[in-house]
Amino acid sequence: MEICRGSQCLKVELIAYSMPREGDVDKLVAESGAISHAPEFRELNEKRVRHLILLLKKLGHESVFEHACFTYRVEGISRVCSHQLVRHRLASYTQQSQRYVKLRNPKFIVPESIFGTEFEKEYFEILERASNLYRRMVEGGIRKEDARFVLPQGIETKIIITMNARELRHFIKLRCAPDAQWEIRALARSMLKLAYEVAPILFEDLYEEYIENYP
Ligand SMILES: Cc1cc2nc3c(=O)[nH]c(=O)nc-3n(C[C@H](O)[C@H](O)[C@H](O)COP(=O)(O)OP(=O)(O)OC[C@H]3O[C@@H](n4cnc5c(N)ncnc54)[C@H](O)[C@@H]3O)c2cc1C
Repeated sequence: MEICRGSQCLKVELIAYSMPREGDVDKLVAESGAISHAPEFRELNEKRVRHLILLLKKLGHESVFEHACFTYRVEGISRVCSHQLVRHRLASYTQQSQRYVKLRNPKFIVPESIFGTEFEKEYFEILERASNLYRRMVEGGIRKEDARFVLPQGIETKIIITMNARELRHFIKLRCAPDAQWEIRALARSMLKLAYEVAPILFEDLYEEYIENYP
C-alpha cells in the first residue's frame, strides 16, 4: 500500500491540444469567430486576435471557444475526485478500469486533515486491511469487479480528459473557486496553468482570477 499526502502525487499533463496549420490556439479561436462578420475567411494579426477573443468573452459568444480542444493525462487523484470530475458532462473521459486492472500495490490519497490527528492510526489500519482483503480475494478467485467493492473511495485513479475550451473555462470557474473541494481544485488549477501556457489570451482572465490571486 502506498500513501499520497494531499495532492502530493497529482500529476497533470497536457498531452494534446488543437493547433491550426499556422498560428496557435488563440488564433484558431479568433479566426473561427471572425467568419461570422466577414465575407471571406481572413488571417488575423496578433492585435486583432486579442481584440476578438476579448470581445467574444465580453459578449458571451462562447460557442466559438468550442473549436479548441485540450486533452489531459491525469494521475494521482482519488476516486472521490474523479467522481466529481465526471459530473461535467460536456467532456470526454477514459478512466483506468478496476474491472480489468489488478491493483497490486494500491495507492491511497489521504487528506492533509487526517495527518497528526487521533484518527490517523485507525485510518491507515483500515486502508491496510481493505488492501489486504482485496488482494486475498483476487488471489482466491473473486473477480476484480467484485473485490473492488471493498476499496475505499480514496483509492488512486488515472484518467484522460478531453474538454473543449468553452467547457474547460466553465469547469475552471466552478472548480478553481475558493469554495471548491481541495482535490478537484488542485486538479483544476493545474489544468488552467497548462491551458494558459498554450492559449494565454483565452485563459488570461481565469489565470489572473484563480492563480495570480491565489498563488
Ligand atoms: C462547489 C460544488 C459543490 C457541489 N455539490 C454537489 C452536491 O452536493 N451534489 C451533487 O449532486 N452535485 C454537486 N455538485 C456538482 C454540480 O451540481 C454539477 O453537477 C457539476 O458542477 C457539473 O456542472 P454543470 O452541470 O454546470 O457542468 P457540465 O455538465 O460540465 O455542463 C456545462 C453546462 O452545459 C449545460 N448543460 C449540460 N448538460 C445539460 C443538460 N442536460 N440540460 C441543460 N443544460 C445542460 C449547462 O449550462 C451546464 O452548466 C457540486 C459542484 C460544485 C462546484
